[in-house]
Amino acid sequence: MRLVLLGPPGSGKGTQAERLGPLLGVPHVSTGDMLRAAVDDGAALGRRVRAHVEGGTLVPDEVVGEAVAGRLAKPDAAAGFVLDGFPRTVEQVAILDRVLERLGTSLDRVLALDASEPVIVRRLGGRRVCPGCRAVYHLESRPPRSAGVCDACGAALAQRADDDVAVIRERLRVYEERTVPVARAYEARGLLRRVDGSGEADVVFEALRAAVAGP
Ligand code: AMP
Repeated sequence: MRLVLLGPPGSGKGTQAERLGPLLGVPHVSTGDMLRAAVDDGAALGRRVRAHVEGGTLVPDEVVGEAVAGRLAKPDAAAGFVLDGFPRTVEQVAILDRVLERLGTSLDRVLALDASEPVIVRRLGGRRVCPGCRAVYHLESRPPRSAGVCDACGAALAQRADDDVAVIRERLRVYEERTVPVARAYEARGLLRRVDGSGEADVVFEALRAAVAGP
């Protein structure tokens, strides 16, 4: 199963993709995670993308396209993947088409999660991440057992630089302008299924499962 998960920041894409991958037996491929890892490593790619990732603007299409092409060519993605955070522009739709064509395959489905702005701002404002093992928490819905400390590895939790309220608004603006047309493009191909992402994580997960299994 080759899936793309679309949705504005805070729609729960990452949380859901992390669960969908194991359910379907395919890797969760998140361009945001890949780019943040490059920033943390201080590698050449990281230095190139840092200002974009921290400021909520988009990394150039060819840069992220190359990273995705490399990732999808790895053996663990041969049987499928859940792609989270890509494509985010219509140019990236064309890049993904070319990558999949080279691999002799195509997308099975595109799931679009939706959530209202107040829900998004609440979710992202309360998000905390572990800089050590990258586990994700939320102050209300998924708090760590001990305040400010990662359950899995004991590191001090932090806020993502782009979860600041001003940056959240910029990311939503970018989503409307650049990524809403991506959903329309896949809708025109008959691949898109819309799923309400505003409920609790378990409820949204069930809706996604139904959308994956359904017609
Ligand atoms: P995310 O974790 O998906 O919210 O992505 C975090 C940040 O990484 C975004 O605000 C962008 O700066 C960058 N990013 C992630 N995916 C892409 C993409 N497909 N195209 C361009 N920039 C991206």
